[in-house]
Amino acid sequence: MKLLEYESKDIFRAYGIPVPPTGGVIKDAGKLPNAIKKAGKGPWVLKAQVLAGGRGKGGGVKLAKTPKDAREIAKKMVGMTLITHQTGPEGLLVKEVLVDKASDISREIYFSIVMDRKSGKPTIIASAEGGVEIEVLAKERPSAILKMPVDPDRGLEAYQGRRLAYALDIPNDRVLDFVKMATKLVKVFLDLDASLVEVNPLIITPKNELIALDAKIVTDDNALFRQESLAERRDPEITALEREAKEVGLSYIALDGNIGCMVNGAGLAMGTMDTVSLAGGSPANFLDVGGGANEEQVTRALQIILKDKKVTAVLVNIFGGIMRCDTIAKGVIAAAKKVKLKLPLIVRLEGTNVKEGKAAIRKSPRSNGRPRRSGSPTSRSTETSAAWSTGPALRWGRWIP
Ligand code: GDP
Ligand code: MG
Repeated sequence: MKLLEYESKDIFRAYGIPVPPTGGVIKDAGKLPNAIKKAGKGPWVLKAQVLAGGRGKGGGVKLAKTPKDAREIAKKMVGMTLITHQTGPEGLLVKEVLVDKASDISREIYFSIVMDRKSGKPTIIASAEGGVEIEVLAKERPSAILKMPVDPDRGLEAYQGRRLAYALDIPNDRVLDFVKMATKLVKVFLDLDASLVEVNPLIITPKNELIALDAKIVTDDNALFRQESLAERRDPEITALEREAKEVGLSYIALDGNIGCMVNGAGLAMGTMDTVSLAGGSPANFLDVGGGANEEQVTRALQIILKDKKVTAVLVNIFGGIMRCDTIAKGVIAAAKKVKLKLPLIVRLEGTNVKEGKAAIRKSPRSNGRPRRSGSPTSRSTETSAAWSTGPALRWGRWIP
């Protein structure tokens, strides 16, 4: 789950990480006078709160010198559609605008914490060349990026923080402040079960103060069971169908294609989507009905798949492990009947009691009676999984122990 900048800054503030004084978020331009009053003396910075980066370049971050400027900017920004390189051409609607007191900047530093899949450790990524996108830097000047592994139990050690401060050329009298800030940012990452905490830019002001000017936190949904306050948050990125699926324990993500997929197990679901694409089709969704798919689950899954009006056919790919294929087949038949399925339904079963399962499908009233043999996996799909296992991240940059 991605948190908005102001939500991330609220968390930073609670941890004692320095952020600019704020007037809060406004949902309509009429609320601006209060917000700038609360933020303190101008100039101010108005920032579109959308779940995408690159807002600065897209017109979503604007400086206002006078209250009049601020009013004009707020009027345009609230309700605008912001397009950045991360939003896609359709852009994102700006429903909220953050009003912060503007900061003076002498230097911009990049600082983030991510999970390095190879070492299995949280890893700090930092660069003295902040302000630019890290992806661009990784491509053009990878040696300017520093990486430092963090022990997930102990957090950032003071000596590590100091090494990082020296490598980033933090002013001598601010090294201790930097170490404190970095240690707290790592603590946020660990406490929240985050997959990303990013501060770009972390600025040094002309008075040598260190401030998190921007903030981004992405958390791991698998840990929501122990993140009470995050679990209560309504994820703005989730669609109505995705929310419905979540409520009944299904992992469902809507996609652009037309072939509805119902699969058990996330790995098989990914493999099925790859295979559909490889065969020239386009999956309408990712859907994992879970390991113990029963008739109820299968029915709910089918109902959710069919609510997507783009779907013109449904592919069921179920592996009977602990679950027997005949039980699943009966579930699929009953579900198809219950939802009065009119679209073509293609069922692939494999595993325990597969013969009985296929026989049940063949005998069902809607079957055309023609069983089909599936082909063997292609070499391309093996390549994909090899690429995933090593992970695409952290190939660039210089490690600092
Ligand atoms: P992003 O483009 O979505 O990453 O949004 P940021 O919050 O990082 O803002 C983009 C850029 O706007 C920053 O890198 C800064 O250069 C500039 N900016 C943002 N806030 C301020 C501010 O308070 N003062 C000044 N001078 N520049 C700012
Ligand atoms: Mg930024």
